[in-house]
Amino acid sequence: MESTTLADLLGIWAFIFVEDFLRYFLVAGALAYLLYRFGAWADSRRIQPRRASAADRRREQRYSALTIFIFSLTGLSIFGLSELGLVHLNTEFTALSLFVEVVLIIVAHDAYFYWMHRGLHASRRLMRVHALHHRSRTPSPWAAYSFSAGEAVLEAVFLPIYALLMPMHGITAFIFTSHMIIRNVLGHAGVEVYPRWWPRHPLTRWMTTTTHHDLHHAEFKHNFGLYFTWWDRWMGTEHPHYLERFEQAHRAGNPLTPKAGTGFTALTVMVVGLCFMTHGTVALAETGGISGCWSNSAHSMHVEFRKCGSASCGVLKNIDRERMDNKPLSDSRNTRRRLRKRALLGINLAHLTERQPNNRWRGTLYRPDKGIVQTATFKVLDNGSLKIRACSGHRCKSLYWHPVDTARCE
Ligand SMILES: [Zn+2]
Ligand SMILES: [Zn+2]
Repeated sequence: MESTTLADLLGIWAFIFVEDFLRYFLVAGALAYLLYRFGAWADSRRIQPRRASAADRRREQRYSALTIFIFSLTGLSIFGLSELGLVHLNTEFTALSLFVEVVLIIVAHDAYFYWMHRGLHASRRLMRVHALHHRSRTPSPWAAYSFSAGEAVLEAVFLPIYALLMPMHGITAFIFTSHMIIRNVLGHAGVEVYPRWWPRHPLTRWMTTTTHHDLHHAEFKHNFGLYFTWWDRWMGTEHPHYLERFEQAHRAGNPLTPKAGTGFTALTVMVVGLCFMTHGTVALAETGGISGCWSNSAHSMHVEFRKCGSASCGVLKNIDRERMDNKPLSDSRNTRRRLRKRALLGINLAHLTERQPNNRWRGTLYRPDKGIVQTATFKVLDNGSLKIRACSGHRCKSLYWHPVDTARCE
């Protein structure tokens, strides 16, 4: 240790930080880019109707960078422990020894993660440490390392503790951390990237899918596992409708939904792409429009947002007549008399024509209850609801719509 100078330590730390950061940036960026590039395919496999907003992604990137900083200090601590002779790093390896070491550390990490994660959910006080990760209600690939500093420390201590107990080769640590980032990014994709047969096939059903972890983000109460489904099944914490929701993501009603074989090809393209794509964030800023099915606060109308030309439109797809007091389904209150006989269903209620900073849009909103078109701003809030500020002149009203299952808009 005497021969290691401060400059040496700084150099080692900088190397670990840059390496960890590049791996996160390349893997999350590559998947984000592929989901953008193959947007129609991704939309056909989207797990939740809501999309992560640009503000969500920025927050996830910021906190992931903080986590990587903390991870890099852990990497440095392993170096320090090995210099002190407390950690034994193997210098020789065979394919078999590497395989055994990698399997052991991944299985051990999955057990550690399950219990640590479940522990964080066990009390309100501990949940505060984990709440930052759950701000990603609809995660994006960038959420992979989006943890508070406290949680990042809990995530990071696994590797030095394991290294103290089990000798391993440096390559094992590299494969383990690479596998961790890839599986984390896939779990936060927001889009089901695994093929249809995955959760039922005897060779793969014990491995988690994107829907598995996405359900944890959407509902908090189930699916605490990271890589494997074992612990959730043994401890009775697997989501009761996990398989149903997985299949739902595969039949999102989009005509572009590919058949199972194509799904596998797409997954393969993604996983191979993860290794090669390097400019993930290009054009990402262009995405993030409002999409999916939304309900007004009274749950009397369901509106589907989709692209129309260069704008986004919100088309009225469903009306609950009982909640609307059995009002007629024609546009009877329209101030333009000649439009009063037109059917309400299928009309464009919302036009989002102009994108603004902070994930806001400007446009117009047609209010069937008043029969008028108002100027409006639209913003997806951190809690997932859509705030619409609709104005006639200086008189404005805030409306809150909520994402609902796409089936409501069929
Ligand atoms: Zn997560
Ligand atoms: Zn959690």
